[in-house]
Amino acid sequence: MNDGPKYGFDTLQIHAGARPDPATGSRQTPIYQSTAYVFRDAEHAAALFNLQEVGYIYSRLTNPTVAVLQERVATLEGGVGGVCCSSGHAAQIMALFPLMAPGLNVVVSTRLYGGTVTQFSQTIKRFGWEATFVDFDDLDAIKAAIDDNTRAVFCESIANPGGYITDLDAIAAIADAAEIPLIVDNTTATPYLCRPIEHGATLVVHSTTKYLTGNGTVTGGCVVDSGKFDWSANDKFPSLSAPEQAYHGLKFHETFGPLAFTFHGIAIGLRDLGMTMNPQAAHYTLMGIETLSLRMDRHVENATKIAQWLEADDRVDYVTYAGLESSPYYDRVAKICPRGASGLFTFAVKGGYDACVKLVNALEIFSHVANLGDARSLIIHSASTTHRQLTVDQQRAAGAAPEVVRVSIGTEDVNDLIADLDQALSKAVS
Ligand SMILES: *Cc1c(COP(=O)(O)O)cnc(C)c1O
Repeated sequence: MNDGPKYGFDTLQIHAGARPDPATGSRQTPIYQSTAYVFRDAEHAAALFNLQEVGYIYSRLTNPTVAVLQERVATLEGGVGGVCCSSGHAAQIMALFPLMAPGLNVVVSTRLYGGTVTQFSQTIKRFGWEATFVDFDDLDAIKAAIDDNTRAVFCESIANPGGYITDLDAIAAIADAAEIPLIVDNTTATPYLCRPIEHGATLVVHSTTKYLTGNGTVTGGCVVDSGKFDWSANDKFPSLSAPEQAYHGLKFHETFGPLAFTFHGIAIGLRDLGMTMNPQAAHYTLMGIETLSLRMDRHVENATKIAQWLEADDRVDYVTYAGLESSPYYDRVAKICPRGASGLFTFAVKGGYDACVKLVNALEIFSHVANLGDARSLIIHSASTTHRQLTVDQQRAAGAAPEVVRVSIGTEDVNDLIADLDQALSKAVS
């Protein structure tokens, strides 16, 4: 079932991509724990390998359980296709891989998940790719950073860790004018709160590890394609527009039209990079996704109450939650994520770095972990953990200054969470 416009989000998060198992009638999507699939005959095998017929060959490329998740995430995002990967970071490489080549660059926001800053500022250089970091509230700076070698613009819809909201429409217009795709990491928002494709994004990437799974069990990622980009408008994207030697000169865009990026992701990306999601992980994420909207509503409700409580507390310097009227990003909530600003934000503790460390140690319900988007409330002192590879200037630019802690507000009883923060702040700030 993939009838996006016909059904509402709450229906699609349970049904999209799934149907009763054709062999057994199994109502829940089975975990197809199989590496390979038997060909009907030699002709069938040849057609599959030539990409003339769609089907299952080998689970590095496609697996029936993973395929349900791919279709579900793509449907919830309003895209035409999705490719699941082993992690969110794998999804980012899979999104860039068809676009980039040595000497080319991607223009990216300074406000990104710490691991993404490291991936883009250090690791992709080994592929000969460059990332140019820009403040995405400065539209002129984005335009100035785009040059003839730029092949994509990359940002987060709600940026981890600060909870900043990106003006996706304005940035999509800049990418459009430069004839390059906008890639949006929608991990923190999820498609329930924000649908980047409706704001002009070409590709959406996810760490399904976070809210989509929602229970902290498995890592995973997904790349969703809007199907709207014309890869053949110029010669910037030869992987999609020019003949592919490995498939007898087949041109992905000409052959697969709006599904070109998705087919390339499977037939080249997963085939050769091998960053495949396993069917067990897809199963856990499918279980989680069924309750996505219910959880996100509670995350938003709890985060709003806790952010308001912290903002009024003398032991706290400031709170970055975009759902607070005091936030410079408050106006963007209505435009970009009208159902709320997710459950992730930072706050600055009076007493700086040392007080943050004491706070983290004193909390009882909040867990000190490097994760977010769990039903459990989580806290991390980013400067001493996820962002410690960055310089202090990079930490501040990313919203992870030394005096700041990041919380991912869970779906527990909000009064218990506030009481926990209250007792721990008393110990941290004297
Ligand atoms: C966690 C995260 C990632 C990386 O995802 P993994 O599944 O940990 O590889 C990327 N972007 C954001 C916004 C994240 O929160």
